[in-house]
Amino acid sequence: MKCPMCGTNTQFNFLYCPNCGYKIALEVEQPIPNWRQLPGFRSKTPWKMILAIMIYVWILLAIVASFFGGII
Ligand SMILES: [Zn+2]
Repeated sequence: MKCPMCGTNTQFNFLYCPNCGYKIALEVEQPIPNWRQLPGFRSKTPWKMILAIMIYVWILLAIVASFFGGII
């Protein structure tokens, strides 16, 4: 990658530019997104995620249906 300050090409994992010392803060550990913490999304198994999405959509539809059913 390239240093944004001096333009030096640095090695991939450098946090600081070896030439000018500019902090290249890219390799910061990302926090786990909220949707990743939902059951079914914690694993990286595709079919589990699809199943989880289907269940969530079904629950959502049930909530919406009961909501509108209560009004009408
Ligand atoms: Zn630099």
